[in-house]
Amino acid sequence: MNFLPLIESKREGKILPPEQIQAFIREFTAGKIPDYQMAAMLMAVYFRGLNTAETTALTLAMRDSGDVLKFPKDQRPLVDKHSTGGIGDKVSLPLAPLLACLGFRVPMISGRGLGITGGTLDKLDSIPGFQTLLPAKKIIAQVQKVGCVICGQTDTMVPADKKIYALRDASGTVPSIPLIVASILSKKLAENLDALILDVKFGRAAFMPTQAEAKKLAQAMVALGNQCGTNTRAILTDMNTPLGRAAGNWLEVKESVECLENKGPNDLRELVIDCAAHLLVQTGKSKSRAAARALAENCLHSGAPRQKWDEMLVAQGADLKAFKQKLSLDSTAKVVVEVKSPKAGYVSKCDARNIGEVIRDLGGGRLTKESKINYDVGVNQIAKPGERLEKSGVLCRVHAANAATANAAVSRLQMAFSISAKRVTSATLIVETISR
Ligand code: URA
Repeated sequence: MNFLPLIESKREGKILPPEQIQAFIREFTAGKIPDYQMAAMLMAVYFRGLNTAETTALTLAMRDSGDVLKFPKDQRPLVDKHSTGGIGDKVSLPLAPLLACLGFRVPMISGRGLGITGGTLDKLDSIPGFQTLLPAKKIIAQVQKVGCVICGQTDTMVPADKKIYALRDASGTVPSIPLIVASILSKKLAENLDALILDVKFGRAAFMPTQAEAKKLAQAMVALGNQCGTNTRAILTDMNTPLGRAAGNWLEVKESVECLENKGPNDLRELVIDCAAHLLVQTGKSKSRAAARALAENCLHSGAPRQKWDEMLVAQGADLKAFKQKLSLDSTAKVVVEVKSPKAGYVSKCDARNIGEVIRDLGGGRLTKESKINYDVGVNQIAKPGERLEKSGVLCRVHAANAATANAAVSRLQMAFSISAKRVTSATLIVETISR
């Protein structure tokens, strides 16, 4: 294929026909288009954009670059949630078993951390024995039997995205709405879902800094998801402050189990229930949001999703005894230090970006693709905006590999918080729903 005229067309702002988009994705996946030419095309798309027809063609071509999961016919709808990523965002962990208990099948194909934002697979890797890389046959069998699986993309699912994402990362073309839409939806559409809920985050630690930009991305994904036959909705959620009170891989698994045991923080529980309620309405299992919320709350309260979590862990090779033993520990890190408030007052800022950067630098995230993660480090007991603290009250606790990194983190974390003499109200977590 002669790819150069297509790059030139897009550079000049022309519209590419769907057949040409399909052809260049096919050729690129097969290794017949060099990376430098694809990088040039990505930059042209970054500046010129893609219209709806072009974005649809790109998404479907990327989905079809590999295997699409094929499930047996079943009454239980196939559903999933995707988050654009944040700090302390562990919703997928309690949500998957909750959805399975609500009568859904959940093939939750997840990713690893990106930048400072955590990744579901990294969190799950902190569970002794848990396997996140499963072949398609096993994914399908577990979804049919257990109701849920949380695992990584197989080598043969959406290979075009893997190659294109690496190039975007290296060519400064990640923050392009059509490229993000195609990347996220090609992977979700390869799960063959009936319904999808998207958690599009905005704020200090989100991909999209403003609510308006998050809304644009959400609208584009909702339109395209529905057009491709998956009932798709999005919620816009605040990511200026971490979700929950814990951030860091193992600490987030621990907090997820607390959520399943009805002991976790309210904001996490609220988001888990809201995502489940949307999917109940989207699939016609509930007539109204209110009825759906009540159903999800009762189910979580029943303890069945906590049992389902253990079932999922065992199905994916976890050592349940070692997991329970690990859960019983206050910390698995070598050093734990409290970060104290310099004065009495109300927490007016708890900056998710600063906290995410500290956790990455403690070893909890990746600076390069090759970085090895320390699963034990992180921050917990995070004081949230609106809460009152006395002088020397705990702003958070740092879990670190040694005293030097803990001390460096303490002074940076002190800067992540502000304390105000005046009463402060916390920001709304879920600000808007985007439906078709
Ligand atoms: N997550 C993805 O999978 N792709 C993007 O482009 C952005 C976030």
